[in-house]
Parts: sequence; structure tokens; C-alpha cells
Amino acid sequence: MQAITHFLVGIIIQAVLISLISPLGIILVIVLAFFSHFLVDSLAKVTYHLKDPQWHDKFWIAYHIIIITLAAVVLVYFWVPYWWGMGIASLIDIYDWMFIRGIRKVKNDPLWLQKYEIHPLIDKFRTKFFAWLPDWNAKRYAVVPEAILIVILLVIIYLI
Ligand SMILES: [Zn+2]
Repeated sequence: MQAITHFLVGIIIQAVLISLISPLGIILVIVLAFFSHFLVDSLAKVTYHLKDPQWHDKFWIAYHIIIITLAAVVLVYFWVPYWWGMGIASLIDIYDWMFIRGIRKVKNDPLWLQKYEIHPLIDKFRTKFFAWLPDWNAKRYAVVPEAILIVILLVIIYLI
């Protein structure tokens, strides 16, 4: 899913657990925020999420400008104290997309550390538990489920 969705899930996990069982909650936040990525990315099947950038497609560009701007706003607004909850919830994207793929580009080796990517594991998790979800990744209307989820998460954050 989009970075903003992972950020908001990380904020909720940190906010709830730290207030309930601080300081032991720190360990639970780390574990749950990390594995929340598996659940959130599995649900991404019903959201607009094309594998490769679609620079020729105005809809794709407009959507990504909006969703990345919103992610930046959430990141800045909730940075203190939620930077680490957001960071751990997004860690798998940072590791796979930024670290591994970034170094791959620099090294010009498309297979570098391929075995150590985590998203293929998430794909297996999704196939096992969420095969029943429709695949809307290429459907423009699938921006709606992600928008609804973002609103629900924001409401939860407002209430806690
Ligand atoms: Zn991901």
C-alpha cells in the first residue's frame, strides 16, 4: 500500500500500546508495526497499485502527487513522537525498495540480494490468507478503498 497507510497504522500501534503497557509496549510496537506491513500490503490487492511507474498516465501522476504529498504531511505532523512507529511500519519498504533496489541500481546488478527481499514473502502470505480478495491493482476506482481506509485510520487516531 501507499506510505501514508503504513504510517497511520504505525501511529495507531504505537499510540495504543505505549499508553497501555509502557515501557514493555516498546517491544510489542516493534513486532506488531513490523508485521502490520504484511497485513496492510495484503489488503493492497483491492487498491490502485501498479507495479511500474506510469509516467504517460495523467491519472497515475495526479494520484501519486496527492498521495505522496499527504504522506509527507502525515510524516511531518506526527513525527514527534511517532517517527519510530511509522518507521518500523514502513521498514520493509525502506529495506526492499530503497536499500536493496537503490544499491542494485548503483551496482547495475538487477539480481543483487534478490533472495533477501521481503515482499516475495508478503506475496506468499497474501496468496495464503487473502486469495479471496479481488485484484483491483490496475483499476482506477481502487483509489476509493485506500482513501476510505486512510479516513478510517485518521478517525481512529483522532479518537485515541
Ligand atoms: Zn510494502
